[in-house]
Amino acid sequence: MRNIDKIYLDGQFVTPKGTEMADLHNPSTEEKIGTVRLAGVEDTWEAVAAAKRAFPAFSRTSKAERIDMLKRLNAAVAARVSDITEAMALEYGAPQTFTSFAVPHAASSFLTMASVLEDYEFERQMGRARVVMQPSGVAAAITPWNSNIGFITSKLATAIAAGSTIVIKPSEMSAIQTQILTECLHEAGLPKGVFNVVNGYGNVVGAELSRHPDIAKVTFTGSTAVGREILRSAADTFKRVTLELGGKGPNIILDDADLDVAIPAVLRMGFINSGQACIAGTRILVPDQLLDDALVSLKKEIETFKVGAPNDPDAMIGPMVSRKQYDRVQSYIEMGTQEGARLLTGGMGRPAGLDRGWFTKPTIFFGVENQMRIAREEIFGPVLSVIGYGDEEEAVSIANDTQYGLQAYLHGTDAARMQALADRLDCGRVVINGAPHEPLAPFGGFKQSGIGREYGVFGLEAFLEPKAVIV
Ligand code: NAD
Repeated sequence: MRNIDKIYLDGQFVTPKGTEMADLHNPSTEEKIGTVRLAGVEDTWEAVAAAKRAFPAFSRTSKAERIDMLKRLNAAVAARVSDITEAMALEYGAPQTFTSFAVPHAASSFLTMASVLEDYEFERQMGRARVVMQPSGVAAAITPWNSNIGFITSKLATAIAAGSTIVIKPSEMSAIQTQILTECLHEAGLPKGVFNVVNGYGNVVGAELSRHPDIAKVTFTGSTAVGREILRSAADTFKRVTLELGGKGPNIILDDADLDVAIPAVLRMGFINSGQACIAGTRILVPDQLLDDALVSLKKEIETFKVGAPNDPDAMIGPMVSRKQYDRVQSYIEMGTQEGARLLTGGMGRPAGLDRGWFTKPTIFFGVENQMRIAREEIFGPVLSVIGYGDEEEAVSIANDTQYGLQAYLHGTDAARMQALADRLDCGRVVINGAPHEPLAPFGGFKQSGIGREYGVFGLEAFLEPKAVIV
């Protein structure tokens, strides 16, 4: 049993004043594996006060000092990649196919930001004005449970690069991995108060951070519904807000695609992190003339996606993170059938041989209309919809016919055609032929997938205010 009973405040691990406890479960076994003591409003105020005290000195540190800090943070987190991976397996049931990428990427986000900082000019001349980029003030980061670590490290790295101090509110479901990460960050020896980590419920700690007058900037990753609440709370004090929200990514197969290459890539991004990813390509768009062949290939390929606990190195799909998430995914599978979509594979219930744990059958529907709820709403589980299209015009129109606009996928053989198509998709990122993640490129969404961008120079500037000094 792991009992996480401390928060990180002003450079020290301290017992929160809040006394409420939440249970932690292993989603692969449903067993209780520990508890987390949750901070309350008073703890949140103390964390903000610590970050506020640290801000004046930290905001004046030099670029070289902050690059050095980022390198120390990278080394400290990289040293405990295996401990963090183990915690993610325990708390989330995250498969090795996901953690083997996500955890090293989380550590390297400090180095990526250090490289951005090296090249970034905080001062430039514009006409008669000297324009200075200055950190907006104390920041708050609110992160979701899925790949919590990567969201914390990228937000923290960007705050450090900008010269902002920060209060981090992780998901309460990620307490063990957050504790290990915080130990690493503590070891890196940053000035006290520069970062503070407060475990707590969203409607208590998260809500307080979103309205606290001393918070100048909120960077949030999570659901569109909560993003909307945060934006409303932040309005009173005009906080700078970056929101990374939900998605319903189109995974578009073009008529010149080689299905043997495209289908594995389509499923990899459809089922990333067991489908519990905002960037999952959950709507598979297939040209009508390739539909029969694509369904045969999808059915064959899905058999290679083994479902299992993270201690099985061959498992590509793990359990859903919680009972609540399992029930939610099941209800969408039921809904798909009721809406008239046809099951290619999967369906309700657990996969054979997995009677305990919140495991879901990887499910593909075909005959899906883009108006159906399974094609419009973010399911956040391994449930994909195949939608047929006539020509390229129709593919673009279906792809863009969604409230979301986060990440789209194109699969084909004509590079110029795909570049031109990418320009017509209303989303923050387009990935061609399963290209790997690019940490320097901006990440974020059009429409209800969010506001603003993270990563690289765009991410850095979202923590900065331009000031013009005119002579
Ligand atoms: P969630 O929105 O329920 O919670 C996210 C965080 O917000 C948690 O820390 C939670 O405690 C906190 N929170 C909840 N209510 C709050 C409130 N009223 N005020 C302030 N904070 C509050 O999301 P989740 O279930 O943890 O994560 C899944 C969601 O996150 C999915 O919708 C997914 O698409 C989204 N997501 C988006 C991205 C992206 O980069 N665009 C990445 C990962 C996940």
